[in-house]
Amino acid sequence: MSDPMNVLAPEHRRLRIGDAWRDAAGGATFAVEDPATGKTIAEVADAGAVDGLAALDAASKAMAEWAATPPRKRSELLTATYRVLTERSEEVARLITAEMGKPLAEARGEVAYGAEFFRWFAEEAVRVEGRYNTAPAGGYRILTVPRPVGPCVFVTPWNFPLAMGARKIAPALAAGCTTITKPAAQTPLTMLFLARIMEEAGVPPGVVNVVTTRRAGEVVSALLADRRTRKLSFTGSTEVGRVLLRQAADNVLRTSMELGGNAALIVCADADLDVALDGAMVAKMRNLGESCIAANRIYVEEPVREEFTARFAERMGALSVGHGLDDGVDVGALIDEASVTKLDELVADAVDRGARVLVGGERPDGPGHFYPPTVLVDVPDDARMLEAEIFGPVAPIISFTSDDEVIAKANDTEHGLAGYVFTRDLQRALRFAEGLETGMLGINRGLISDPSAPFGGVKQSGIGKEGSHEGILEYLDVTYVAIDLP
Ligand code: NAP
Repeated sequence: MSDPMNVLAPEHRRLRIGDAWRDAAGGATFAVEDPATGKTIAEVADAGAVDGLAALDAASKAMAEWAATPPRKRSELLTATYRVLTERSEEVARLITAEMGKPLAEARGEVAYGAEFFRWFAEEAVRVEGRYNTAPAGGYRILTVPRPVGPCVFVTPWNFPLAMGARKIAPALAAGCTTITKPAAQTPLTMLFLARIMEEAGVPPGVVNVVTTRRAGEVVSALLADRRTRKLSFTGSTEVGRVLLRQAADNVLRTSMELGGNAALIVCADADLDVALDGAMVAKMRNLGESCIAANRIYVEEPVREEFTARFAERMGALSVGHGLDDGVDVGALIDEASVTKLDELVADAVDRGARVLVGGERPDGPGHFYPPTVLVDVPDDARMLEAEIFGPVAPIISFTSDDEVIAKANDTEHGLAGYVFTRDLQRALRFAEGLETGMLGINRGLISDPSAPFGGVKQSGIGKEGSHEGILEYLDVTYVAIDLP
């Protein structure tokens, strides 16, 4: 098999600013590693504040012309991006696996998911509407005019190097906004590749800028302090989200915040257990558990606890761990050493407090950042893993005996991103839907991400929605025009 890096020529491992691919001022670079081997796979430009502001110059300069570009034309450019991503899916997937560690099958899934945002928002681009109506008292008319917000700054995480950028860039471009994306330092290559294919697709210079950096704080704060920036969309941890919200307050920026989660997955005694097992495997293990909507706590009603636990542990134990590019691998490398150490500590803490490990629980020797699929039972309520984001292939199982009890426990967290319920009782499902404090809920489903559905959290999991029709509204302001007409 060819080197996954072949898809991104060395001249495109630099900053994408305006019509140029350029080095960082001063020429600094940083290394990108394959998390499965710890080996350097590429060097990319390490931008400073001055480079970030150069990208903002380019985005500001391109703004008026892009906003005035006919929606149909913007739509066609998004469709062209969708096509290239789809045609080159295998190359993009291999690049994602190389820098992020997930198995190739997961990376292919991410490319399909990420590409779909371009198709969806190509369709939305031509459906932006205002309205015209008579004021209730008569005498004048009310006209509403949607307008692009302006240049947007995007900060994205490493866990979905393509999709988390795609679900910001696609609606922004559809609405007529220009963009500057700062991808995570651990996974900058996929975003550079996306910028390259959007250049090839004919997206005008300055509309899609990408600034890679190891100095996120310096670059992003300079961008947020500049009044030409009109919007921040961030996906990442709640902790960093709070810092950026404070910075965004100074210029009263529009913000969309996609932050951390602590999803409860609830299996009721009346559930179809085959469906619940399939759902739990997806909700826990999609993306190795390195997902904001991963099932972080699995609550199983007492009468089915034993059977569910035994079957779930068997399936978790049968997963194969290895390099994401190797055939037959289900669980690839975690992003870094800190993630492995965190899992080790969370498991040790739960065991200290009385939990039992049924499967996994010990990190393997050797290079790379691996952790085996792990199932714990008898996890007490005060175990740290029930409050922290596990972000890895570790599944704590807790039993419950009443719906009120499990709803109270599920809601006892600062987060409110996603949840999952398995039951065949419609009324029970609806009571959970009304009782659980989450932005998203899967009923008898472990997979809920869909570009045509509004993705986002409540409480400290975020503000705003990505995907669906709501997704484009995040990039539009509305001007109200009063027209005198007696
Ligand atoms: P993170 O540490 O918050 O980093 C996210 C992004 O913020 C990265 O690009 C990072 O750059 C940047 N960043 C860090 N500190 C910054 C600062 N002081 N100023 C400006 N930018 C800063 O999160 P992560 O570890 O990459 O991703 C995992 C988190 O993302 C989890 O909490 C997960 O739940 C969340 N997430 C949420 C969603 C959602 O839709 N709700 C989706 C995916 C992930 P560096 O890479 O240089 O540190």
